[in-house]
Amino acid sequence: MSWLREEVLRYAGMGRADEKEIDPRIIDFADRAVEELIHVYEPRCTTKIFSVSTIRGVENGLRFGGFDVMDVTSRSLTVNLQGCEEVLFFAATLGIEVDRLIRKYSARDMSQGLIMDAAATALIESYCDGCNYRLEKELNKEYKTLRPRFSPGYGDFDVKHQRDFIRLLDLPRTIGVTPTDGGMLVPAKSVTALMGISRFKKPLYGDIQRCNIHGCEECLKKDCIYRRNI
Ligand code: SF4
Repeated sequence: MSWLREEVLRYAGMGRADEKEIDPRIIDFADRAVEELIHVYEPRCTTKIFSVSTIRGVENGLRFGGFDVMDVTSRSLTVNLQGCEEVLFFAATLGIEVDRLIRKYSARDMSQGLIMDAAATALIESYCDGCNYRLEKELNKEYKTLRPRFSPGYGDFDVKHQRDFIRLLDLPRTIGVTPTDGGMLVPAKSVTALMGISRFKKPLYGDIQRCNIHGCEECLKKDCIYRRNI
């Protein structure tokens, strides 16, 4: 099974099932969903680097940026960003046509809508991974590396900070992402996240200490002190 199909089925809640146990029509539709989405999606991303410092007198308080600040109180983020002086703010979207396609299939057939939604989630995650990989390659030239993505709503990082990403990255202008009154993002298949930038010493044998691109959940460094609160 291709990794992308596996991801689609996982997001559709069938991750634990053996492929032979899944209705072949679902598998066919998962592949078709990816193809259709790739025809209409317009993936875009934007980034900005901010400084990060602790806020004196505030337990687990962090301040991002100097002038245009975002203040956050979060234990899990404080742990994950230990030792970082800079943080990369990141946002990405698949574009509004993806939302339309999901709506079209959901109106026609609930289960097809669900698979289409899962395929779009797999695509945005894979797009973000690709962007982060390229960004990390650039940072590696300066002996810097990226910690895993950390999105508002993750752990105790309040989802209300989604609005700060929209403001700090000027998302309506840069990649066409706007907030709803309820604090959700439009297009729906959009991601905001920050990643700590950590430094490493010049590697002797080219063995660079890297975070797992799929995040702490899949990382084997179980004793890592920066591990996301999972
Ligand atoms: S647990 Fe792994 S992925 Fe998470 S911060 Fe540590 S090294 Fe990076």
